[in-house]
Order: sequence, then C-alpha cells, then structure tokens
Amino acid sequence: MQEAWPRVIAHADMDAFYASVEQLDDPGLRGQPLLVGPRSDRGVVLTASYEARPFGVGSAMPMTRARRLCPQAVVVPPRFERYKAVSKRVMRVFADFSPAVEALSLDEAFLDMTGTGHIFGPPETFGARLKNAISEATGGLSASVGISATKYVAKVASGYSKPDGLTIVPPERAKQWLAPQPVAMLWGAGPKTQRRLAALGLATIGDVAAADRRWLASKLGKAGSHFHELAQAKDPRPVARSRTAKSIGSERTLASDVKSETEIAFQLRRAADAVGRRLRRNGYVARGVRVKLKRSDFRSLTRQRGLAEPTDVSEDLYRMAVALLPEFNDAGPFRLIGIAAYELDRRTEARQLHLGMGEGSRQQRLDAVLDQADERFGPGAVHRAGDLIRQSPIGPEVDLDFLLDDGD
Ligand SMILES: [Mg+2]
Repeated sequence: MQEAWPRVIAHADMDAFYASVEQLDDPGLRGQPLLVGPRSDRGVVLTASYEARPFGVGSAMPMTRARRLCPQAVVVPPRFERYKAVSKRVMRVFADFSPAVEALSLDEAFLDMTGTGHIFGPPETFGARLKNAISEATGGLSASVGISATKYVAKVASGYSKPDGLTIVPPERAKQWLAPQPVAMLWGAGPKTQRRLAALGLATIGDVAAADRRWLASKLGKAGSHFHELAQAKDPRPVARSRTAKSIGSERTLASDVKSETEIAFQLRRAADAVGRRLRRNGYVARGVRVKLKRSDFRSLTRQRGLAEPTDVSEDLYRMAVALLPEFNDAGPFRLIGIAAYELDRRTEARQLHLGMGEGSRQQRLDAVLDQADERFGPGAVHRAGDLIRQSPIGPEVDLDFLLDDGD
C-alpha cells in the first residue's frame, strides 16, 4: 500500500534521449546503431542508441574509439534546440503529475508523489500512467521510471531495467534490493572512489552497508559516512521543487589542444560573448560564472565564483572567467573550453542602455551592437577584431542552456 510509504518518490529518465529523438524524427534511423555527437574525431559521444550499446559504445566515450568499436554506426550531429523542445513537453507531463518536480537535466527528473495515491493510484499504476503520458506527449519516446521512498533508491531503480523499465522498490525491501548492486551505483562515487572502495575490499553496496561506519569514515572521510547511509537506503533529501538550477553555457571542443594563455583567453572571450548574448536574449542576469576546461586526457576541471553584482554583460563574464584561470593550477593542454553563467535571475527592471560615460555603459553598447548584428546576419557573422587574426577551425559551439522552467 502506498499509504504505508513514508514518502513516494519517482525518478523518471528518458531512454537514450538524444538518439531516440533522432530516431523518432527520422524513421530511416530506427533500429540502427546511432551515435549522437560531432562528426569530427575530436568530440565525445553524447548519446548512443540502444542498437549501438552491445558494441560497448556509451556516452562520454571519445568519438574515435566509438567508431572503432562500432564502425557501422550512423553519426548524427546534435540538435539541441529540438531536444530542448521535446524536453519541455516531457517536463510538462511531469508537472501534470506532481507539483514537486526536480529536473536534473533535459531528460530526467525526480517527482515527489507523496499523498497522491488517491489520484494516481498505487506506484505500479502511477508509474505505468506516467510512462504512457510521456509516450503520448512525445509521439512515442520511452522513459524508465523508478519508484521508492528515497531519491537515491528511486534513481538506482530507474536505471535498473532500461529501456522502457518500471521498477518499484518498497521501502521495507530497499536495503536488501540495493545490496547486490556494484559500488559504482553509489550516488557520487566516481571512478576514483570506486577504486578506493575496491581496494578496501568493498565490491557491492551490501558490502558498504555491512562495513563499520566509523572505519569507513576513517578511510574516506565525510564521503564514507554518506555512502554508508545511502547503502542503508537512508536518504532524507527532499525533492527540491523550488530548485532553479538554471544556467546558460557554451563550450567547444577545439581543433587542436591549446596551452597558451592568449589562446585560452581567446576561447573564453568567444564563449563569454555567446553566453552573454543568450542571457540578454532570454532576459536573465547571472550571479556566477563557471569555467570548464577539459584536459588532453579527457579529465574535466571546473572552477566557479559568484559575481559581485548580477550581470548580463559579456565583458563581465569574460573577466571573471579569466580571473578563475589561475585557480585551475593546471598548465594544460586543453581540448575543450567552456563557460557557464549560473544562478540566473529574471532581469526585472527594463534594461538601461545608458548612452552616457563609463566603461560599464560602453560594454553594454558594444553588446547591443553585437546582438543586433547577430540577429540580422546570423550567429557568428560579426566577430571582435581580435578574432579575425586567427584562423579557427574549431568544432561547433555546444549550447548548454538549461532553462527548463521558462514558462512555455
Ligand atoms: Mg536519460
């Protein structure tokens, strides 16, 4: 009985989202191994269709490796605008079922379903209805759904029988259900932590649950206690309905790895211009800037910092990004450079374009000119003078905007 559950939390996750959208839009791609990602060899796979996965191909794998493993795969470049449009429909379905939806990305979310049993039925019934509604709203895409009494177990459950899965783990069985799963399923345990757990002789979640908590904490610090709790299926975190994890980001994989500070700054400038433009177009100001660098060995590094004042001025984003560089303490070379603006607020007052004096207003005027040119001639038609002296055979700009609660 649902009423016996302290909380009812669902985690819904679209199956091979980008690849499934491509197969939905182009019937010729259905049933085929498909890789969504850049056609160039320098990028990574964003999503592999289920037909490609038996070849050992998965997301975040370098494209060269994926094509070697699965040479017959069709490679399709990503269409983020389309994925975002489909995502909005999916998120609307979630909102129909629960007032408390916490989106984790374009294609997955937690739904707090506590106390809705009288409307949507017990978890089995509700889960099936949710999956049907998603399929109907998207024209046939499938999602996998996990339902339990905690966020953590719901998330593991949604991944348990992908694709098109529905896994329900009643709270009294949760700890036992988790026990045989590998430690890789511990939320937050990256490859490094997994190796450390393995070195401690802990292979399954059950092993972690059975370990002495203080011993685990002495080996892994705070994370040790946290994993111990998760392994007991204890996870008090609420579904954060008010979460506004909005951000606007731009990153590129470069044609060749860069090391020089000038070149890095040039790429940051380009990204800051793109991000600033989209902040202004969408009517947002940002309270923080995050820089992402990916090393030649594919390790991603990020540094972020809050701004003294919220801004939508490209120059402000750029300056903060450059100021963050020393904090990386890494000389590169880097294969990818990106910026995201986070903690976004709606710009409330009408934007003031002071035609007066001062550096701030000069930057705003420059932004306005660049924005207008962009609208008239298309993105990238107008560059800052510094850009022109560089030939820049670089990959496509990947737009990482995350503005799900944008209204429509
Ligand atoms: Mg997914």
